[in-house]
This record gives sequence, C-alpha cells and structure tokens, in this order.
Amino acid sequence: MDVGDSYISPRMYTDGATGIDYPQMAYGVSLGFATVGSNGGHNGTSAGPLLNQPEALTDHSWRGVQQATVVSKAVVKAYYGSNALKSYHIGCATGARQGIRVAQVDPELFDGIVAGAPIFNFGNTVMWYGAVLEGIFHGNDSYLTRENWGLVHEELLNQCDDLDGAADGIIEDPRRCHLETLPLNCWVFIREHCFNTPRTFAVEQIFSRLDFGANYSYPGAAYGAEVGIADAFLHNEFLLTLLKEWYYYISPGNVSWQPSDYDTNEAVKSLREAPAELQPLSADLKAFRDHGGKVLHWHGSSDPLISIMNSDNFYDSLLNLTGGGSYSNIDDFYRYFRLSGTGHCADGGPGANYVGQDGRMQVVTANTEDNVLSALAEWVENGKAPEVIRGVKWVDDDPEKDVELARKHCRYPYANRYRGTSDGKDEEGWQCEKL
Ligand code: CA
Repeated sequence: MDVGDSYISPRMYTDGATGIDYPQMAYGVSLGFATVGSNGGHNGTSAGPLLNQPEALTDHSWRGVQQATVVSKAVVKAYYGSNALKSYHIGCATGARQGIRVAQVDPELFDGIVAGAPIFNFGNTVMWYGAVLEGIFHGNDSYLTRENWGLVHEELLNQCDDLDGAADGIIEDPRRCHLETLPLNCWVFIREHCFNTPRTFAVEQIFSRLDFGANYSYPGAAYGAEVGIADAFLHNEFLLTLLKEWYYYISPGNVSWQPSDYDTNEAVKSLREAPAELQPLSADLKAFRDHGGKVLHWHGSSDPLISIMNSDNFYDSLLNLTGGGSYSNIDDFYRYFRLSGTGHCADGGPGANYVGQDGRMQVVTANTEDNVLSALAEWVENGKAPEVIRGVKWVDDDPEKDVELARKHCRYPYANRYRGTSDGKDEEGWQCEKL
C-alpha cells in the first residue's frame, strides 16, 4: 500500500489474521506504515480446507504470514528503491500466534511484534469450550443463565474489587482474588437469588484449571471474565462451531462427530493426535531475541475466549526457557502488559481497553504511551522500552463520546494498586507494584 512519497524507506507492518482485514490495514497506513494483509492461505471462514491438507495447515499456522511478508518486502524495495526501514507484525488471537510462530521459524523476518491475546494453546482452548458447553453446562441443573452470571459478577466484585485498593468495578489483577462460592449457594444463604449446588459447582469449575490428562490443560477463566462468558457461551453458535470444526477437520477428521460425543478422554486423545502446528506453542524465542527482535505482548484480563492466564503461563515459560529464569534476560526484548477489565481482543470490558491495538475505533494516536504499535516502533528504532501502556475507555466504548476512564497498564509481573485518595477514577492514584 502506498504510504506517500515522503517515505523513502518506510516501516513495514504485516497484519496477522485469518482474513484480510482492510480497516486494520488502513489503520497501519494511517500511522505511516506500508501495510500488508494476508488471509494465511485460505479465507478463514471455515477450517474445511485444512482437512487432510498438512501444507494448508502450515500456511495457516505461519507460512502464509511469512511468505506474504517476504513478497511484500520485495514490493516495498521495488517501489521505494530501498529496503523497508523496519518490519513489524501486529495481530490478535490467531494473528498474534502467527507472529510469535514466525519469530521462531524465521527469526530475522520481523524487527518487532505486537501480540494481543495470543492463542498459544489452540487445541486446549477449543477443548475447554467443549468442557464448558458440553460438560459443565450440561443439563438443566448446572446451566447458568445470564442473570446467574450477573449474580456471580456481583459477588465477585463484593469479594475482590477493592483488593487492588479501589472499588471501581475493575479487578486489576485476578491473581489477587479467590472467589468464595458459598455465599452464592442457597444451602448456605437463603436469599432471593441463589444457586443450587450443581450451579455453584459449575461456577467453581469455570474458574478452575482443567486438566485433560497427558500434560494437556487449560487454566480456566480469570476472575472478571464472567460477564463476557455469559455473552460468549450463551446463545452463541460460534464456539460450538469451532468445537465441531476441530473434530471435523483437524483431529481426528471425523465429519460425523456430534457435540454429545464430547468427553475429556476423547478430548485428550484428540489433542494428542492433533497436528504438530496446533500443539501448544513453545516459549523458546532465543533466536528472535538474539537477532534483536522485540515483542510487545498484551492480554485483556476479562477475556472470556482466551484466558489471560494462558499469557501469564507463557510468560513464565519464556522466563525459564528463553531467559534462564532471569527477568533481565528477557526484559530487554519481551514485555507483557495485562490490560485490566479488557475483553477479547479489546472488545469491551469495564477497563481502559483501548491501547491502539486496532483501527476499530477510528481513532489514531501516535503517542507512544497510548499506542502499542507506536510504543513498539519507539522501542525497536530508538531503544526506549515501554514501561506502561496507557489505555482509555470511552463512554459506551464509543470514541465519539467522552473519555470515561484512562489508566496506565503495568507490565507483568507488576500490577496496578491504588494509592490515591479518591475513588480510583483518577489516573495518577495508581501505581505499578509487584504482588
Ligand atoms: Ca478495583
């Protein structure tokens, strides 16, 4: 894409996704990047083209993004007469996974990567959807309605909201919280709205680590994701379709599979037999680090579709596998920001959820602290590593309206704590502290 004659040696930006995202490409151009979009080798509306096509799966996993970038670097060079100054990748969920995977197979291709809510464990995540839809929710006794989830949310805020120093409706760090479910149970407290024991147990299961066996697990939902879970798991065919397509087209490739067939024994068999490209992603980024690459990783703590604890776990693995257990070995190239109260790929949530991760809001700011892509470029090009990422939330998430909230998000393992004297809505009262 043309970025104008003033750019002799443009930065390049590759958008990772499962389809060409034109608004996202326009966003890259608006920030002055020559921008590339790719569909990863198929149109992304179904996993059908991947059935018995290992090469197509490799394209989807990383090669589509990699090849699109290689070709586009040549286009940039031909058009501008010189190589791109730097090459960046930005993506969320699958797009983020693609970026990290490319950094492993072709560590010199990108100089920097913004990875939002990466789906590091694709199969495990889909199997968790199955466990929730077909296991935990199975039967009328344990099914949780939208109103039930509202009650869970209310109780969670009662117990955990002020653990960060401010009862502002945002749980800054779910790791501080442990939901005691007894107050929800009708056996314990008789009140107007309460749960039977199967529903109470279902709530505990949603927030608990799920072990499928054979080293396959999912960390469970993070506290604060419950409102999004109601939206995502109730009356929404998307997750059921993902589950079906996994069994139809990925592993074992059985198009007569029925959701009622789901059980955890079958799940672990399916995970074990899944193609290597969809096994949990390694946290070895040594080659990318040694090349000088930078990663700005972010994840919303209220993400109902990919639990933020997946990102916590990946960072901890990275610390050991790439950093040899020392933060100083990874902090110079990999920083992970946890966006409190932020939904999947920054879609909603009560927190300061817009950090420039996409062009959805049609609001562009190049201020490095307010924009993950600009922050990454500043880090790569000028060596200034981001300490915080400042997010904003507009009233009704509508950028045409006023800013309701702004907050600087901390980099892991730090978390925000309110030390101010107001109600937590003031930006300056928050400080990044280690737990
Ligand atoms: Ca709070």
